[in-house]
Order: sequence, then C-alpha cells, then structure tokens
Amino acid sequence: MKDRILAKRMEVIKDRQFGEIAVKRHWRTMRVTVRARAGRLVAVAPLGVTPREVERVIDGHRDKIARMLEASPRPSCADGKAVESCWLSVTVRTGNVRRVTVTRDGCHYALTRPAGAGDAVVGRAVAACLKHRAHEVLPGMLDELARRWGFVYTSLRINSSKGRWGSCSGRKSINLSASLMLLPRHLVEFVMLHELCHTVHLDHGDAFKRLLDQCAGGRRAEREAELRRYSAAAWG
Ligand SMILES: [Zn+2]
Repeated sequence: MKDRILAKRMEVIKDRQFGEIAVKRHWRTMRVTVRARAGRLVAVAPLGVTPREVERVIDGHRDKIARMLEASPRPSCADGKAVESCWLSVTVRTGNVRRVTVTRDGCHYALTRPAGAGDAVVGRAVAACLKHRAHEVLPGMLDELARRWGFVYTSLRINSSKGRWGSCSGRKSINLSASLMLLPRHLVEFVMLHELCHTVHLDHGDAFKRLLDQCAGGRRAEREAELRRYSAAAWG
C-alpha cells in the first residue's frame, strides 16, 4: 500500500547540459545517485541533502551521466513501432478516428490515433497495452517460479511503475511493473526471483543475496548488472 505520509513533492533541477532532472528523496538512501530512465534523468538523494549538493554530484559525473542518457533513449510516440520486445509489439499510426483505438492480433497491438493526439495520450495507450499483456504473462510465470523454488506469496498486483520493476511487502504480497514487458524473459524471471526471495528475507542482506544467487544459478551479480542497463519506459 502507498504510504501517503511519505509521499514526496517532486523537486526538479534545471541543468545547463541535461535539462530537467527530477530529484527524488528517499530516507533509506545514503548518497546521491543519478539514473537515466527513458531519456530522462532522475537523481535519488537522502532527505537532508540540498539541491546544490545534488548539483555538485552531477557536476562530478557529467561524462558518465551523458553516456547513461545515450544508452536510455526516450521512447518514441511518433508513428511507427513504439514497443518491440519478446512479449509484444505496439505500432502507432495516425488515422481517421476520433479517439485512440487499439486492435490486437496475437501479441501485436496496433494503435490508431487521431491527428493532433499528443504524446501523452499515445503514451497512456501504450502503457495500457503493456499492462494488458502483463496481466496475461506475469501471473503464470510467477506462479511457476514460486512452485519450482518452493516460495509462497499471498497476492500479485501489476502496476505501471516506471521506477521499480517490483516490490514485496512484509505480508508476502508481490507487486510487479507492467514495464517488465520490455525486458527479455531471463530478466523478468530474475526480477520475480528477487521478489520471491523477499518472501523469505525482507532485507537485501547476505542471506538474501545467497538465496537469490542460488535461484539465479550463480549469476545474481551478472543479472543485476544487466538489469541496470535497462530502464523502464516513461509511458503514460
Ligand atoms: Zn529487493
């Protein structure tokens, strides 16, 4: 459940080179980190750090941040292929329609938008396609992995989070992001195993890491590095 007391106001830094950088505060964070998500930069900072200090961290890592941005292009809402993954494809075209319409053939979604429909409208429709497909794919996969490894979880929810692939509560209820539909299968499985391991160990301590490594065939570090190269798309 979302904790409203901890809900944070979004801060934005305007950078001469990178444009707007969203700053998110997190009480658990010890230092400032910067990530690229679908062509946008997000800085995660501890509660007490000033915007000036965040700027200093950005200043110290300009080359690295530029490379990160390059590896994380902003998804296009222009006509053409908007999404192409092993789970689904979404194509966008402009047609003689009054509102965005979606037709589907297998795992191919075809989206038609009226002339003049903005990127936000198309983005929401693409996000809906991801979520639709996620509801078909994720529950069965999670079930199968849980059974294979003997994990027990109480419920699964699928959200449209762009910042987190998944989470698991103390009550063993798992949340997964529909953005997982942009990842290859082995990484979707890895995110699921991560959350399933939280049904045994809630923190990311050594016992958690050992268990996840075991479930991932000794490739935990490799998978985590691979996952960092992907960014959830900024749809919607
Ligand atoms: Zn975790």
